[in-house]
Amino acid sequence: MIWLMGLSGAGKSTISNLFEEQLNESGFFSMKLDGDEMRKGLNYNLGFSMDDRAENIRRAAETAKIIASNGVIVICSFITPLNGHRTIAKKILGDMYFEVFIDCPLDICEQRDVKGLYEQAHNNTLKNFTGISSAFERPTTPDLILHTDNFTAEQCCDQLYNAVKNKIADNA
Ligand code: ADP
Repeated sequence: MIWLMGLSGAGKSTISNLFEEQLNESGFFSMKLDGDEMRKGLNYNLGFSMDDRAENIRRAAETAKIIASNGVIVICSFITPLNGHRTIAKKILGDMYFEVFIDCPLDICEQRDVKGLYEQAHNNTLKNFTGISSAFERPTTPDLILHTDNFTAEQCCDQLYNAVKNKIADNA
């Protein structure tokens, strides 16, 4: 259970896609759970208050748990803005939880502005946007930090692959 967290535009989806490909090429079956996708369906009735964000994470973690308990590697991509939200995921997933901070400075995420959301947040046409008008706490105890401002997406994916392999070897 790989939990990727970080600001919008930090690189969660990009790394998740690459990592899934790498796992599949190595013969592992994996599935992705993505915050944007879940909000279109299962979590369509949730907004961006801190309570709704917590519920978003709870449902995602419970879903990931069901999938992972069937022997599938699950790669979750959720902003997961507060330490309290990370605690919710960790409590549900226990030892399966491998927390990865996709670390990218806010100004670089703003320059990337992949989905145009930072511009909308600055124009005030989008409320409660993480990093601008809604809090993001740096995680204090991630299992791994990937610096997407200093390394390419492929390099970050390799770092993740090696860290996960080491964790599997440690648990064997
Ligand atoms: P998120 O899912 O965190 O919102 P995305 O993966 O959708 O972020 O967007 C990240 C953007 O940053 C993409 O356009 C990607 O090509 C770019 N990018 C540049 N360097 C990296 C890197 N090292 N890792 C991941 N993404 C990167």
